Amino acid sequence: MMCEVGRGKIFWHLMILTVNMAKKFSKGLIWFRRDLRVQDNAALHLALSSCEEVHAVFIFDSEILDQLPKADRRVDFIQASVAELDVELQNLSGKSGSGLIVAHGKAIEEIPLLARELGVQAVFCAYDYEPTAQIRDQSVTVELREIGVELQTCKDHVIFEKREILTLQGQPYGVFTPYKNNWLSKIKIENIRDFNVGLLAFGLAVRPENYQKPVPSLEALGFNSSNLRDLLIPTGASGAQSLLADFLKRMDNYHVARDFPSIKGPSYLGIHLRFGTISIRELVSQALKRKASGSEGASIWLSELVWRDFYFQILSNFPRVATGAYKTEYDAIVWEDGPRALDLFKSWCDGRTGYPLVDAAMAQINQTGYMHNRLRMVVGSFLVKDLGIDWRWGERYFSENLNDFDLSANNGGWQWVSSSGCDAQPYFRIFNPINQSQKFDPDGQFIKRYLPQLKKLPTKFIHTPWLAPKLILEVADVYLGDNYPLPLVDHKQARARTLLRYSAVKKP
Ligand code: FAD
Repeated sequence: MMCEVGRGKIFWHLMILTVNMAKKFSKGLIWFRRDLRVQDNAALHLALSSCEEVHAVFIFDSEILDQLPKADRRVDFIQASVAELDVELQNLSGKSGSGLIVAHGKAIEEIPLLARELGVQAVFCAYDYEPTAQIRDQSVTVELREIGVELQTCKDHVIFEKREILTLQGQPYGVFTPYKNNWLSKIKIENIRDFNVGLLAFGLAVRPENYQKPVPSLEALGFNSSNLRDLLIPTGASGAQSLLADFLKRMDNYHVARDFPSIKGPSYLGIHLRFGTISIRELVSQALKRKASGSEGASIWLSELVWRDFYFQILSNFPRVATGAYKTEYDAIVWEDGPRALDLFKSWCDGRTGYPLVDAAMAQINQTGYMHNRLRMVVGSFLVKDLGIDWRWGERYFSENLNDFDLSANNGGWQWVSSSGCDAQPYFRIFNPINQSQKFDPDGQFIKRYLPQLKKLPTKFIHTPWLAPKLILEVADVYLGDNYPLPLVDHKQARARTLLRYSAVKKP
């Protein structure tokens, strides 16, 4: 018996020795950022395959946190997800004292400091495509180089990045459909392989004693709780898996249900994709499997995941979109400005435009941090093409309020509604907020959920309360200009103004 155990141990040690012999570094550090999971994590896999011993770190970056309000759902989400990641790492390594090192400070200072203290030769992380993140990573690279440490990045957030899907002329795509066709023709099993770290987990290091601290609470980070928990938004990798399991039951019907905000059509996985509590490869692989068995819902959902890659490559290849129009000739448009524009914008933000679907959608984002995709298009179009406000104002508001805010998709979405983006809707295609309401919320169920003051209004007038006879309004307890606003603008007149405004755009 003793011999069996002894032999087993020797075999295990020999195996570790053999695996380690091939490794490039003795000590490394995995820096988790927007990939808060151990399952199918490319950077963690790279670190564990390259180093005999790997420490893990997450930085609550004060350069980002200091710009946020003191209660922010995304900070709650990150804090809870990081706490789960810590436990996942401990379970994976099985060693007492292992887990996540967590710091609160400027990443550009904390990472080099930690690398020096731990004596690592390399830091590993997933590639980040946002311009400010790239500046941060360049600074960290320089700092690390000074102490002889490498920063190694790898692809994790997308299936195909930067210049992996190009036109025949070797140029990045600016139109979605040919991009998608090329994407679909290129997808192979190796693009969605699972970066399983199970067999490498013995490389996870025990933290030095001074770093064996629990993940800081929200209060310790200087934040108050938001309403994330009341909204029952599931956090961490376990939360993502529970949402996925629920969506898998509904995926086949996605193409039918996805456009109606009052029903549970989409996956609600946006926030998890944003913070990497689920792997894009896992989702694409699920969608491909279903698509192969003829599911139309899966096929359409897969297209949405391809849109996500599409906008990431647009941001990578044309970083100027972060501040200006993709089609530069659209920068000639003169938007409303001054106090009137500020008033209009404030009414839009507060959901007081007088158009019930727009106002209900704004109430949804303000109360929950989520907004249904159809409604993002409706309110976006309303802000830009009914109120004449610069799309960047709306983009900024979404960036501050969306739980799933992602610079690439948000910018792509806003440039789409303003017609300045790649593959955007033509400028003369102006959503009619009343038609959209009648089509996608026909009984006003969604409107009534978010605008309870309109609950008693008959369906006939739920999309246009200002057209209801006085008596009907009185019976429904709706007092226009009091408990519900009159419309800010007349859509027909606004449409005409927009067409004039867009005439400033000259063909390049
Ligand atoms: P599902 O319908 O279940 O889709 C699954 C995933 O596919 C999404 O989580 C997202 O990662 C991706 N996806 C879906 N639609 C798009 C799209 N049009 N472009 C890029 N990726 C897409 N999406 C964001 O992730 N972050 C944003 O900040 C964002 N801002 C937007 C702003 C505007 C003005 C518009 C019109 C769209 C925006 N979108 C954004 C795209 C889309 O509305 C959301 O991805 C979607 O509503 C998220 O809900 P879900 O996870 O239930 O999506």
